[in-house]
Amino acid sequence: MEAEEQIKVLREFIEQNYYPQLLEGVRKGQMYLGLDFSELVKFNTEISEELLENPEEVLKAGEMAVKEFDLPQKVQKFTIRLTNMPDSQKINVSDIRSKHLNKFLWTEGVVRQKSDVRPHVAAAKFECPSCGNVITIIQLDKKYKEPSKCSCGRKGKFKEISRELVDGQGIVLEENADELDGVQPKRINVFLKDDLVAPISERRTGPGSRVRICGWVTEVPIILKTGGQSTKYDLIIEANYVEPLQEDDIEMNITPEELEQIKQLAQDPDLINILVKNLAPSIYGHDKIKEALILQLAGGCRKVRPDGIITRGDMHLLLIGDPGSAKSQLLKRISKIAPKARFTSGKGATAAGLTASVVKDEFLGGWSLEAGTLVLANKGFAIIDEMDKMGKEDTSALHEGMEQQQISISKANIQATLKCETTIIAAANPKLGRFDPYELIAKQINLPPTLINRFDLIFPIKDLPNREKDERVASFILKLHQDPQKAESSLSTKLLKKYFAYIRQKIEPRISDEAMEEIKEYYITMRSAGMSDDGSIKSIPITARQLEALIRLAEASAKLRLSNLVLKKDAQKAIELIDYCLNQIAKDQETGKIDIDRIGSRITATQRSSLTLIKDIIAALEEQMKVKTIPVENIIEAAQEKGITPSQVEDLLATLRRNGDIYEPKRGFVQRL
Ligand code: ADP
Ligand code: MG
Repeated sequence: MEAEEQIKVLREFIEQNYYPQLLEGVRKGQMYLGLDFSELVKFNTEISEELLENPEEVLKAGEMAVKEFDLPQKVQKFTIRLTNMPDSQKINVSDIRSKHLNKFLWTEGVVRQKSDVRPHVAAAKFECPSCGNVITIIQLDKKYKEPSKCSCGRKGKFKEISRELVDGQGIVLEENADELDGVQPKRINVFLKDDLVAPISERRTGPGSRVRICGWVTEVPIILKTGGQSTKYDLIIEANYVEPLQEDDIEMNITPEELEQIKQLAQDPDLINILVKNLAPSIYGHDKIKEALILQLAGGCRKVRPDGIITRGDMHLLLIGDPGSAKSQLLKRISKIAPKARFTSGKGATAAGLTASVVKDEFLGGWSLEAGTLVLANKGFAIIDEMDKMGKEDTSALHEGMEQQQISISKANIQATLKCETTIIAAANPKLGRFDPYELIAKQINLPPTLINRFDLIFPIKDLPNREKDERVASFILKLHQDPQKAESSLSTKLLKKYFAYIRQKIEPRISDEAMEEIKEYYITMRSAGMSDDGSIKSIPITARQLEALIRLAEASAKLRLSNLVLKKDAQKAIELIDYCLNQIAKDQETGKIDIDRIGSRITATQRSSLTLIKDIIAALEEQMKVKTIPVENIIEAAQEKGITPSQVEDLLATLRRNGDIYEPKRGFVQRL
């Protein structure tokens, strides 16, 4: 079709379908018009095919067509944007090749990085004298660039036909990792111009948001560090239309058969056990942890109150454990099941780290905001191994991310708040190598107590030798190595993933009165256990944080059954888990009492007093026996009179040794330092 003909056809198309819209838009100063591609196909197949093959040329014709109308305002520059592109034009970022140059395509992904708006980017258009092809070269460098080669094979001597200044912006689009199954997702630079640019703080296309981008592939010369022009080219997408996508849309391509399977599974009276068995079939034991992980995958309900206060529905879980206790393996496996999951190691796999960072923009120059794991996993899961090894900046940004579920950043002229409604599953190694149940959590892992407090559930994984258990674990692991297929579960990973995606999005249970009563009862009982008979407070066994955790867990338990009502049994399940957790990590081994400060603080009152007592005993014995090395036996004897059992003494001595208060000059003797 000749250019004249193209203009005529498009003019007719717009006149018949979009005229009122066009007038209204121009009156408002809107310098673009969106056309529905599927309607254009119906109107004239020839032009729609030409549009796919030669987008720049046909869009130019569209612009000319618009200018022919009698418009309420004079238009200088006008853009035609296309929506509703056919599926045949969809391409994954990793599949983009040079043969796609200048073809109209669309792709989807997550915005990984977005630059500042750059108002002075020049775009020059050249015409190839041999074939008439128009080539756009975005001028990013100080040195003026001409195309070196046309797709028809011609090299050099191109005619410049126009040069314009545009508002430009670059984004780095990363393809959806979910569809890739573990392969490293590929990225591509996308160039936005004119009215497509938006401040970074604009949420719908900000870092971390999912978008559909329609445009064509063009080439930009790679700028060499020396400033010279390289013969290598980078492919970028010049965007024609950017459409924000609903965060929840993913994973929902559940077939009717799968939905039936999900419903059947949910009805099974043995549901929890089936899920526990299938969660990580190649990891032996850890059933309580697996149960907690299942509830976490289901998640609680997010609540937005009329006064604007939001309570998160996501639960955070932390595993602290001895080395070699399958923590990493468990997390890896969860990252395969959890919908929209991102796995990372605390030791900053990416430059943006866990939260977000401002980086130098290599594409347009200037600064760019890059989303980190938590932001990219918005509405999904951030799975963080070796969390204790994360950087300082991440640690502080994480506080806000975990409770307020947003990340604020302000650096190098860029200010933005990014959403992160993300569930965190983390693992940390104890500082001293092994987890010590007598020692406070905060002293054992390299994380600030304030951060530890924000986890709903904390599980220690202890690897204590136990003949019977060791035998079972050993034969389990050995069998796995003998026959790796054996761990194949009865539920496929795909189905599990869809099951969790489904219940997270579709089920929002309400709490029944009975469930409420049950939780309240537990909370009150626990709270009063911290009080003496005379009303004075000895310890705080539980806080409102745990109360909220109980609600989230109970909601999750109801979700698993696809139930719209949280029942008493759901509340009991939640209590069982929280109670288990508190007993593991917050129980004072000396008094047997639960003390929440054991989690978030570095020392408890009872422990402090017992340690002092032992130190006093040692000092007294020194006096009495007139020696420096004191037999442990004597200490045990003296302590028993004060009501401390021999095993407690051993533990207290161990703590003193670790603290550097005493040392062991020979077996069975201690000496003060
Ligand atoms: P961690 O991250 O806790 O230090 P890893 O996840 O790297 O430990 O586990 C070390 C190895 O031990 C893995 O190969 C894992 O499969 C094996 N292992 C440890 N505990 C178990 C278990 N309970 N069941 C199966 N394998 C286990
Ligand atoms: Mg590990």
